[in-house]
Amino acid sequence: MTHPTPTSRLSGLHKNSIAERLARVVDFAGLDEDTAQHLADMGNLDPHLADHLIENVIATMNVPVGVATNMKVDGRDVLIPMATEESSVVAAVCNAARQCYGSGGFVTSTSGSLMIAQVQLVDTPDPAHARIRILERKAEIQALCDACDPLLVELGGGFRDLEVRIVDTAGGPMVITHLIVDTRDAMGANAVNTMAETIAPHLEGWTGGRVYLRILSNLADRRLARARATWTCEAIGGADVRDGIVSAYRFAAADPYRAATHNKGIMNGVSAVVLATGNDTRAVEAGAHAYAARQGWYSSLTTWEVTADGDLAGSIELPLAVGLIGGATRLHPTARACLKILGVDSAEALARVIAAVGLAQNFSALKALATTGIQKGHMSLHAQNIAMMAGAQGNEIAQVAAALVAQGTVRVDIAKQELARLRG
Ligand code: NAD
Repeated sequence: MTHPTPTSRLSGLHKNSIAERLARVVDFAGLDEDTAQHLADMGNLDPHLADHLIENVIATMNVPVGVATNMKVDGRDVLIPMATEESSVVAAVCNAARQCYGSGGFVTSTSGSLMIAQVQLVDTPDPAHARIRILERKAEIQALCDACDPLLVELGGGFRDLEVRIVDTAGGPMVITHLIVDTRDAMGANAVNTMAETIAPHLEGWTGGRVYLRILSNLADRRLARARATWTCEAIGGADVRDGIVSAYRFAAADPYRAATHNKGIMNGVSAVVLATGNDTRAVEAGAHAYAARQGWYSSLTTWEVTADGDLAGSIELPLAVGLIGGATRLHPTARACLKILGVDSAEALARVIAAVGLAQNFSALKALATTGIQKGHMSLHAQNIAMMAGAQGNEIAQVAAALVAQGTVRVDIAKQELARLRG
């Protein structure tokens, strides 16, 4: 007997309770009782909160939070919570930070906390003239924007500047207005989007154009975070290692195929802290990659050089639109706890720590790549994952993983053989 194809048109799912939704999904996918039970356990996230954060909630996804040690940022020792499913990421930061702790750790700075909202005007009859007319209205625009968010203004934020660009497109010139807004300790997407929507009808009235989009730009290049650190030649194992790291950087700076992987490694660290603090990983990632391509070609977010003393100098600069309030930062209890561990008192301070983590991550990746290769360090942790995939439990995991590493072959089939041997 053939079963009817289940339908994805689950009408009213959003109105169901979490348990009702899960039951419908279990039914749809034919999940067994154990899987259903597993999904029903929502761990340490209050189901009511989860249900309010997103739509159609049926479960939560637990990701490990590890803590990076050895970090000194602007003279302060800090423990860094990192949420990631990828092995080696936390260890990489610990190792890099240990090797520059003696030379002072990381020095950081920011360009401020300015976000950009864009308003798109099309079919403007006289774009150049319209641009000037909009710029003349700066004081009026400021008043309209600031009236949207009196709390933000009270906290020292609000409208800061106005930019109007004419962008040539396949559909003709568009007049693009940028509202530049200090969003203080908020990431600021909602704050600036409200301002963009408020200003839009006025722009239409002043220019005769038609507004379509009114939304922030994730290329937050007025919200840059920077970090730098120096690793002594001695601390990293000599001039060959140093030169290998510099050469690896030059490769990334010149070749987008390499730069994508180079920057992915940086984002391993950056996104893990962004996620642990309840911030928007996609916003930060979009900003970082767009910034990496700002010269017209995609390149490295970091720079590696040799100092006059022959040491290794690393630096990073990237947009980091993160907040301490807004989004899930204040709502998610784990994010709140992670912010407490970090002990940061402003969004700028958080962004600076995250930039330091990105640089640390990149140091470790380049050092491994330029010397022993990435697999050696990666494989011992990866071997544990493979051991678990093969069914190892408890103490068996470390034993099977050690056997795989010793053989230099980390494969599930070999792990299964090792496990069978171990269990006699
Ligand atoms: P929000 O609107 O929840 O909070 C910001 C508001 O909090 C401010 O407008 C202000 O009124 C108030 N506030 C209180 N104390 C403050 C302080 N110390 N500093 C600054 N503001 C303070 O959040 P948001 O930061 O405007 O928006 C962030 C959310 O928007 C995230 O969840 C993000 O995922 C989402 N989002 C992102 C995009 C994007 O990146 N493209 C688009 C839409 C929404």
